Parts: sequence; structure tokens; C-alpha cells
Amino acid sequence: MGLKNKIMAAALGLITLFGPTINIHSKQETIEQKVEYKTEITLEQNKAQARDYNLEGRLTVLGFDLLINGLKSGIGAKYNGDDFWPAFGKGILSGAVVYAGKEIASFNEFPFLGATGKLVHDLGVSMSDNVMLSKPILSRYVTDFGPLEVHFEKGKDTKIYVHISPIVSIIKNFADKNKFELKETIYNFTPVFSFEVPLEIQQKGEFIGGYASQNIMTYCRNCQTDNFDLSSKSHEMNHVLFFSEFRFIDDLMPKKSEMVEKMLFLHPLAPLADYIRIGPMLAQGIFILPKLFSEKAYWYSPQELEAYTMQRPQYKNSHPFYR
Ligand SMILES: [Zn+2]
Repeated sequence: MGLKNKIMAAALGLITLFGPTINIHSKQETIEQKVEYKTEITLEQNKAQARDYNLEGRLTVLGFDLLINGLKSGIGAKYNGDDFWPAFGKGILSGAVVYAGKEIASFNEFPFLGATGKLVHDLGVSMSDNVMLSKPILSRYVTDFGPLEVHFEKGKDTKIYVHISPIVSIIKNFADKNKFELKETIYNFTPVFSFEVPLEIQQKGEFIGGYASQNIMTYCRNCQTDNFDLSSKSHEMNHVLFFSEFRFIDDLMPKKSEMVEKMLFLHPLAPLADYIRIGPMLAQGIFILPKLFSEKAYWYSPQELEAYTMQRPQYKNSHPFYR
């Protein structure tokens, strides 16, 4: 087993173990902040002010979605020997669909809007992934549900792949005695769990209304004050969608069975390796790295900036940008 493979195996092992345990929290608020905005202005004024700031935030998310999907498609197509600009244009169109999916899913306080948004978002992601791979833009549709990723492709058999990290998240939710929410799972087309009272982080007076680990969502079911439960569900749904945007990493990786074949202990598993997907897990591992150095990094990580911007309802004090 070469050094490169050893390092890769160690890195993947660490991310598998610790990735899902380091959760992405939503809407932390100190008690002082809560008291402050309650006494200074009414909740309605607070929401109205947040909306003013929020429009700019939403336009920024839209801009990034257009640009990132344009670049992903353009660069991929160029690498495959096609022209950059036509693919870039198709990528921008895909980015608009991606953003539309996020907007729809943010209204997941209403039944099935979470699921509809997720499927529309999957359409946008599938479109730009197809262009990146120089396939016809609508030739393949990919969606995921918990650990399963399903590929529907024109003229080919339907394929099912497995993600390990959502399995770890589901086990962790059961171990934490969280309740499996069947109705919310169907409404959002992603596994949903809930806990009973706001979680306090390390007795710091900050509370968590929910967390998402990969595409598994957990929220506080008895946090109706100020619609904390709704904004948490909407926030975590955005993290669930973020997961899908890194499926393309697996498309770009070399054949996993060939990599695993060279590994000393793992080589009997080589035939299974091609059914395992790791892109979103790698992405989450990379995005949580800055948090290991500073707690403040939480607020400015791309996935939190997006989730705090897209969540509904929106409050002025939910994020440093909306104060
Ligand atoms: Zn979050």
C-alpha cells in the first residue's frame, strides 16, 4: 500500500468518523440578544428590517449560483474538448433552476414545498453536472434520499449508489434519542428527526434550533416561540440542498474500484467501491475545517451565509449580516 493510498485512507476514515458528528447548527442566539430585540423593537418591526437587508443577501446567493454553475459547466466542457462559452451559458441556466429550488424549499413550513424545492434543485444540479460531463443537458436526472443516490439516465438502466455519512447521521440521531418525523420526511423528501427542547451549547447561553448532518435534518419540535421551529426547519433544509451540489466530485474521481484494489486490507471490497459516493462528505469535511481554528468561522462559512439568508421567516438578529 503506497503512502498516497495510506494518507487517502486515513483522511477518508477521519472524515467518515468525525464529519457527521460535527453538526451544522442553526440560529444560535444569546439570551441577551433575544431580550435586547424583544424590548427595543417589536417582532414585526424586526422582521421588516431583516427583509430589507435580506433582498441583497438573496440576490448574492442567486449571483453565486449562476456563476458557480456556469463555471463548473464551462470548465468541465472545455476539459472534454468542447467550447467554454456555450457550456457556461447552459450552466447559468442550470444555476437559475438551482436557485429556484432553494427559494421553493425555503417555504417548507407548507406541506410538500420542501420536497418540490428539493426535486427542482436536483434538476438544476443535474443539468449543470450533465453539461460539465459534456452530456446533453437533460439526459440524466440525479436525486438523493438519505444514504441513497439514484441516477435516471436516458437509454441506460437506473443506478443506485450509497453514501456512508448519512447512515452515520441516522444512527447518531437514534442514539441521541431524537424522534423520527415520518410526515416531515415525506413533506421534505429527506430523512427528518426532531428533539424536544432547544439545545444549549456548552452552557454558553446560546441555543440551537436544529442541525443538519449531510442530507439528514434535525429540528426542535417544541420551539414555536417566534417561529423558531419554522425558521430552523427552513434553515436546515438549505443545508440538505447544499449536500447535492457536491455530487459532481464523484463524477470527476477516478474509478474507485481501481483505487481500492491497491489498498492492502480493503482490496476484497473493490467490486463494491464503485457504488460508494463520497463527494458531499469530502465537501463537508473541507467546509468545517475553518471552524476548528475559530468559532467565529461558523458565521462566515459559505453554507451558513446561504442558510441564514434563505431561511424563512427571517429575523433581524439571526445573523451578524442582518442586524
Ligand atoms: Zn446552519
